[in-house]
Amino acid sequence: MTRPLSSGENPREESDVLEYQQLFIGGEWVDPAGKATIDVISPHSEELVGRTPEGTTADMDRAVAAARATFDDGSWSLAPPADRIAIVSKFAEIYAARMMELADVITTEMGSPISFSQLAQTPAPWLMLNSFIGVASEFPWEEKRAGTLAPEVLVRHEAVGVVAAIVPWNVPQFVTMAKLAPALLSGCSIVIKPAPETPLDALFVCALLEEAGVPKGVVSVVPAGREVGEHLVRHPGVDKVAFTGSTAAGRKIAAICGEQLKRVSLELGGKSAAIILDDADLGATVEGLKFASLMNNGQACVAQTRILASKKRYDEVVDALSTMVGGLKVGDPADATTEIGPLVAERQQERVEKYIALGQEEGARVVVGGNGRPEGLEKGWYVRPTVFAGVDNSMRIAREEIFGPVIAVIPYDDERDAVRIANDSEYGLAGSVWTADMGKGMDIARRVRAGTFGVNQYTMDFIAPFGGYKASGIGREFGREGLEEYLELKSIVAPPGA
Ligand code: NAD
Repeated sequence: MTRPLSSGENPREESDVLEYQQLFIGGEWVDPAGKATIDVISPHSEELVGRTPEGTTADMDRAVAAARATFDDGSWSLAPPADRIAIVSKFAEIYAARMMELADVITTEMGSPISFSQLAQTPAPWLMLNSFIGVASEFPWEEKRAGTLAPEVLVRHEAVGVVAAIVPWNVPQFVTMAKLAPALLSGCSIVIKPAPETPLDALFVCALLEEAGVPKGVVSVVPAGREVGEHLVRHPGVDKVAFTGSTAAGRKIAAICGEQLKRVSLELGGKSAAIILDDADLGATVEGLKFASLMNNGQACVAQTRILASKKRYDEVVDALSTMVGGLKVGDPADATTEIGPLVAERQQERVEKYIALGQEEGARVVVGGNGRPEGLEKGWYVRPTVFAGVDNSMRIAREEIFGPVIAVIPYDDERDAVRIANDSEYGLAGSVWTADMGKGMDIARRVRAGTFGVNQYTMDFIAPFGGYKASGIGREFGREGLEEYLELKSIVAPPGA
């Protein structure tokens, strides 16, 4: 593994283990309060590949205190937006130069195929960062309005305060950037808690922030588990929580923030549907679903894991999908030709295997894949990419997020029925429709209740809001709306010319 930029003693790389001995608190590398460490185990080789300190509540207290002090002194939060944009632009430049190394770090720590990491794990966050810089450059930070009672009102957009950013392991840089970029540009201070599975990429970025000249106190990164994460959420010094993760954890965090009247944004789970209409070009659709349904080894919140096919073309769709899934190359994520790597952890492998067994118990039919090790892979947390046919939308494999390379093909009667099934879900994160008729495609796009939707593709765009309906979340990331999540509004009435 390539050695990241170091700062003092931090990090140290011996043999193939990337080791950080300190935490990044208040913009400085500091010794952790406790002695516990996080071991990062390769999902492919099951060997130790990294180690970092495990943050404690005392580390979080220290990080929040640093963030609070910097925020309250106003040197960053009240600086002209152009000053922050200049520093964040420098960070973007440095990030660009290091993002392929960072892609390697992510593949090593959580097993996403390197082809995916070199596209979505770090270049996409870099594009997102640039998009946010563009939005901030055009943003009306202060607006004068002719008043109704007073002659004039000044409407100011001000930083929301100290942000607690809680990040999952599946797309760690992507999720971090969706919070870090708008927080920095708006003048917030931020304490980032990466997931214990992926602390290495998070600490790697700290050196880049230092090099860009982000002032001390503005950013802290403290890898830790749930309890310490919850301590951060509850901390009275935190003004806003930005959480991405499971719906179960999101509900808990929302309840705490509700009680404390803290600002909160939540990006949660999904069980998105891809609707294949009868006139769709099946070859192109299946190729599109290779990414939309199975990206990142199926560990994507937006994965289109319910495939809706009409009864007329059902068998044909199942055959085409099974041929595609059965032909996927499963193996070492560091190999550029790998399409499906291992799952992040053994418990995730067990979870996916349980769902595969459950689907069979529920009466669905495994057409390709199923439980058992993929051929030639004795070690690693691999599962076989699996297609289920004969699935009813009431089955648990159609309702619950599996978070692995498992797709369920569900039959529908007509387009109305397809929309009904797509909407018959606790979630509402994403979706797609595949058709030769753009009019029909757009009509269905309007009728499905989901935060992002694709016609003959699935992608999100960094200039447009991203987020979930229903149990998929609260609030939006990306674009102007994503920046506004980090801003409070203040109206000032003063004599004209003040
Ligand atoms: P998770 O909810 O178990 O953990 C996510 C993060 O939250 C981790 O850092 C974890 O340590 C922390 N955490 C968990 N409980 C907490 C609590 N009570 N207080 C504070 N912190 C807590 O989720 P995961 O298994 O790491 O990630 C997978 C989930 O994330 C999936 O459900 C997926 O759909 C979702 N996800 C959503 C999006 C989105 O944008 N909507 C993006 C990526 C992942």
